[in-house]
Amino acid sequence: SLLPTLTPEEVRRLDRRHVFHSWSAQAKIDPVPVVAAEGARITTDDGRTYVDFTSQLVNVNIGYQHPRLVAAIQEQAARMTTVSPAMANDMRSAAAAAIAELAPGDLNMVFFTNGGAEATENAVRMARLHTGRQKVLAAYRSYHGATAGAISLTGEPRRWGSEPAVPGVVHYFGPYLYRSNFHATTEQEECERALQHLRDIIAAEGPHHIAALISETVVGTNGILVPPDGYLAGVRAICDEFGIVMIADEVMAGFGRAGEWFAIDHWGVTPDLICFAKGVNSGYVPLGGVIISDRIAASFQDEPYPGGLTYSGHPLACASAVASIEIFKDEGIIERARDLGEGVIGPRLRGLMEKHPSVGEVRGLGVFWAVELVSDRATRAPLASMAEVTAACKAAGMWPFVAGNRLHIVPPLVITEEELDDGLRALDTALDVADAACVV
Ligand code: PLP
Repeated sequence: SLLPTLTPEEVRRLDRRHVFHSWSAQAKIDPVPVVAAEGARITTDDGRTYVDFTSQLVNVNIGYQHPRLVAAIQEQAARMTTVSPAMANDMRSAAAAAIAELAPGDLNMVFFTNGGAEATENAVRMARLHTGRQKVLAAYRSYHGATAGAISLTGEPRRWGSEPAVPGVVHYFGPYLYRSNFHATTEQEECERALQHLRDIIAAEGPHHIAALISETVVGTNGILVPPDGYLAGVRAICDEFGIVMIADEVMAGFGRAGEWFAIDHWGVTPDLICFAKGVNSGYVPLGGVIISDRIAASFQDEPYPGGLTYSGHPLACASAVASIEIFKDEGIIERARDLGEGVIGPRLRGLMEKHPSVGEVRGLGVFWAVELVSDRATRAPLASMAEVTAACKAAGMWPFVAGNRLHIVPPLVITEEELDDGLRALDTALDVADAACVV
């Protein structure tokens, strides 16, 4: 081998001494080395194998070490590993065309980035230059990335540590019936009142000052919040009325996670810009981007676009996107995600809700589900003892995605029914632990 072999002890020691980890107090973490991963399973350095219900950061949609995707990357590495964004390149052309082909409406051009945050930054920059306006609306329950602009747009508490934020961002509440900000009791009420709230905010901020509204089509890390029917069409109509650019952040929800190429396809709405990353190539090589409508692209036909990245349209990343999209099509991965959600995950989670008083709500679509844990169903008080629930999942052989008082059920889309069954049985066991903390 051309690469060094480290013992598990060396991995841990060098990690602790030299690797500075995201979002963490460096002295208080003990990152577990993963030594192998295949399909929907990961193996840690103690030899234990887990069904991965996380897809890491909800990005390994195609599963680990897909042989054809690995081979395509190897082939491209042998052909050409890097070229400047100012030159043209076969895999970049092919990836842009393939992504544009999947996108709705007149979203025909792609600006490539290295990940989701840079997609957010560039989408907002395009919207500001296109409209000549400055303010941007974003949801409180959102995550859009951790660069200066993207973390300012982010509404959830991860923003706080980076404040004071970049000016010009105005936050709003989107629909979330289980914890409604609008005292709504039905999906329809929640939808109507959330749209009215948005109108009120726009009126108060001055519509002619608002460049864009960015929203996660299905809110991801902040709860897997599926919008009620009519909400996104309502947002589209409001954006049209006031000349606001509608940006769909599909970084987590896109590329099959929600059972469609883009989650927004569920509701037949066409945004002006789509941000993507994660599932586009399952993170085998870093890649993200913005899909741009012809109307917005036209603003940069004769005037230069003032933005760029050394690795924009990196050939290795683009080749992996081309290969991944082909694999999705050949293996019917989108349809599979939809079927797993409707046929297996949804029904099984609803069954667990009947059995376990700690489950306040289950919601989701595709392979994108949340189990919201409460200590009291009547008050909906969030369950506090998530550490015990997490440990119980791991002890039963499932690696869980924990966000606040929720478990997100977000395995690779290629998970087999047996693996899914193993993971859901582990969840069942862990929910007994959650029940013990409930006031029943
Ligand atoms: N947007 C959404 C909806 C995300 O979930 C994320 C990452 O979790 C991002 C943007 C940021 O992507 P990245 O971490 O690749 O910068």
